Parts: sequence; C-alpha cells; structure tokens
Amino acid sequence: MIDLSPLTIQSAREGLKNKKFTARELIEASIEAIKNRDKELNAFLEIFDDALAQADEADKKIKEGLDLPLLGIPFAIKDNILFEGHKATASSKILEGFISPTNSTVIQKLLDAGAIILGRTNCDEFAMGSSTETSAYGITKNPHDVSRVPGGSSGGSAVAVAAHMTIASLGSDTAGSIRQPAAFCGVVGFKPTYGRVSRSGLIAMTSSLDQIGPFTKTVADAEIIYEVIRGMDKMDSTTTAENTYPKQKEFNKTIGVPRAFFEGEGVSEVVKKNLEESIEKFKSLGYKVVDVDLPNISYSLAAYYILMPAEVSSNLARFDGVKYGLFVGGENGIDDYFKTRGMGFGREVRRRIILGTYVLSSGYYDAYYGSALKAKQIITNELRNAFNEVDLILTPTAPTPAFKFGEKATPLDMYLADIFTVPANISGCPSISLPSGFVKVGDVDLPLGIELTADLNREDNIFRASKEFLGE
Ligand code: GLN
Repeated sequence: MIDLSPLTIQSAREGLKNKKFTARELIEASIEAIKNRDKELNAFLEIFDDALAQADEADKKIKEGLDLPLLGIPFAIKDNILFEGHKATASSKILEGFISPTNSTVIQKLLDAGAIILGRTNCDEFAMGSSTETSAYGITKNPHDVSRVPGGSSGGSAVAVAAHMTIASLGSDTAGSIRQPAAFCGVVGFKPTYGRVSRSGLIAMTSSLDQIGPFTKTVADAEIIYEVIRGMDKMDSTTTAENTYPKQKEFNKTIGVPRAFFEGEGVSEVVKKNLEESIEKFKSLGYKVVDVDLPNISYSLAAYYILMPAEVSSNLARFDGVKYGLFVGGENGIDDYFKTRGMGFGREVRRRIILGTYVLSSGYYDAYYGSALKAKQIITNELRNAFNEVDLILTPTAPTPAFKFGEKATPLDMYLADIFTVPANISGCPSISLPSGFVKVGDVDLPLGIELTADLNREDNIFRASKEFLGE
C-alpha cells in the first residue's frame, strides 16, 4: 500500500507519470488511511462511492498520455461545497439527505484538471465556529493531540491533509476558517483575494467575505490548486479580473509587522516567541522587516461580528423545510417553518440568525450594520495604504496553539480565535497560514502557524515569500 505521508501534488504527479503507481492505487491508499485513522479523528463525513471509478477514469487518461495539473490527485472537500449527485449538508441537520443537483464552479474546475473528489469533510455547522465543535455530526480531533480541537470551521479538511488521508483539500474562509485550522494542524492554508475564486456552489455564509481555498503540505501545491480554481465566472458576479486592482509597487522583500495588534494580552507567550523566531528567519533570508502602524485593524473582529450575522440571517432564510433537506411538520405553514428551523439548526447558528435579525432591524440598522460597513472601508483603506510601503504583513495566525475541547466557555472566547485572520476577509486581501514550528505543551508537540497577508491580487508576493520561508 502506498504511504501518503511523503506525497505532495508535485511528487504524486511524478509518481503517476513515471508509473510508480496508478491513480487507483493512490485512491485505495487514501481510503485505507481514512478507514484506519478516521475512526478516531472523524475528519470525513463520507467517502464518495464513485471515488474508485473516478480513479479508473484518471488512469485511462494517464494511459492516453494526458497531462493535466491534478490528474489522479485525491482531494477532500468541505461539506459546504457542492458536488453534483453527492450529499452536501454544511454539517447541519437541516440539510440532512440533501443531494446537490449541480457542481460548484471549483469542483468543476478540479474535475476538469483531473482531480479525484474522494469525500466530504466535517466542519462547524454552516462554517460557524473555530473548532469544528458545532457540527451536527460529531467533533473532529486534532491528529497531534486528540484531546484538542483541529480548529475550524474547516477542521475536517485540515485534518484530512495533516493526517495524510488525502494529498489536498478545499475549505472555505470567511474569517479564518482555512488559515486557523491549518495553523492548529501544521499544514499550509491559503485564502485567495475576494473575487479571485468563484463561490458559485459554495453554501453561503457571509457572501461579502466568503472565499474558497486549499489546504496542502507545501506552498507549491497551494499555488497549483489556486491556478486551477481561480478566474472570473459568469455564475458569480462578485468574481473580478486579474487587473482589477492596480499594482501598487514592485516586490522588494519588505515585511510589515503590526506589533501593537498582537503584543497585548490574550496572545500566548509561545505564539509571540514563535513570531519573533519567524521574523529572524525572514531577516536571514534577506527580508527587511519593519513596524507598521494599523490603528484600526483591531476593530476588524467587532465589524465582522455585525456584518457576518446580518448576512447569515439573510442567507439562511432559504432553509425553510420546503426547498431543501429536513422538514418537520407543525400545525400550519408558519409552524412548519418554526419547527423545521428550530430542530434543524444548532445553537450557534440560531444565535447568529437572531443577532443578525436584530442588527438589521429598523432603528438599529444604521447604528450597527451601517457603522460596521464604514469600519470595513476604513480598515481596508488602512491595510491597502500599508501595502504602498511593504509587500506583506506578518502576524501570528492564531493567538494560541490548538485548545482543548470545551475549553472556550463563552461564544466570545471562541470568537477571539479569529482576531488575526479576520482583517484579510474584511479587506478582501489574500492571506496564507504557514507552519512555523512546534511548541511542547505537556508531553505533546503542537504546531504553530504564521500568517502572511498581501495587497489585493498580490498572490504572487505571498507565494514567493512563503516558499522562501519554508525552504521550497
Ligand atoms: N470562526 C469564524 C466564525 O465562527 C470563522 C468563520 C469562517 O471563516 N467560516 O464565524
């Protein structure tokens, strides 16, 4: 049986081309790894029945001499990304039994590039959470320490790669749901610029912030996937062209560090120390590291927790027991609606729908929603101005290493896990989390991550510096 642990997209493509193994053997190895490891971890909600048939199809194409960028590569997808003829539930009871009638644009692009869609992964319900604990289908465990969370909301997709059950996966990131679990699990997690990847067929959470991106073991692999999935799409009117934002400056190896943002309380000492070590590493690679002042960036989280529930309350109105998934009958039409939504949605989702309805209600709209929109613009301008001076902004990905199950006692404690990831969503900027070493906690080694954010459409800067950082 093939061992997936040393394999990347690049090396697996070599292996397939040189006939060291077939796509069927690769997928059989993935399925075997899932059967062995996932009993404990619960990263996968389902292995798709047609995974082996897809592999045979890929082997046929390889025999014919076709060379596609992802031909024969196993992928796992977050349970909020639609794959025609397959279940998608956003890890919610309300979508139990829902079968997607279409392919999302990203899945179509992966399939066209030869990828094999192996299965769907667990996540926080409707992508709301930072620990994968709000899923209606059980928790997912961190492979580095099973008493700890894998992060969230795309926890299953992070674990699937970190525990070598697949070579790559897709997640979605609205406030950090790719980057934070990547940091907690020790893999690469990348969120492209808002508008560079179509969200057609992504179950919407916060449409003005949602973005799809990859989990991989290397930056080169993340770039390969980004090249496949990016581009304008007539099915998503928010997609933008490559030249939408004028390039502000040439890359000159300058990194800005907004120290005031993470030097306060709430950020663990091991995280601060790891960041200093990462700064030293960048310096040794010839980077100039300078302080940048971003006085309003710390308001990103507050703005997010107004904008997000507002859009959630609107996006989730479609789950009414009539159109999709679960139906719970009541006394009359209105009662059907109350019963279905009351039973189908979990606590966190209901909390956000109620909050969102409140911030959009007349009389509060201007005070909350209107102010949050203004804050979003101020934060975006501030960040984009900083990119006149620096190529990238460096922060930790998360304020702590992976925490224990149940450790975050209040919703607010949990929300703070996004403090460093949310500015990239508020501004639309591309952002990556890179593994930056381990810290010993008790007798386990937990991974840490750093985050690099670039100006809109400057994915090139991110890939370049990230590869140097990881020595690729
Ligand atoms: N932790 C964030 C939240 O709960 C993450 C959301 C996301 O990026 N999907 O809203």
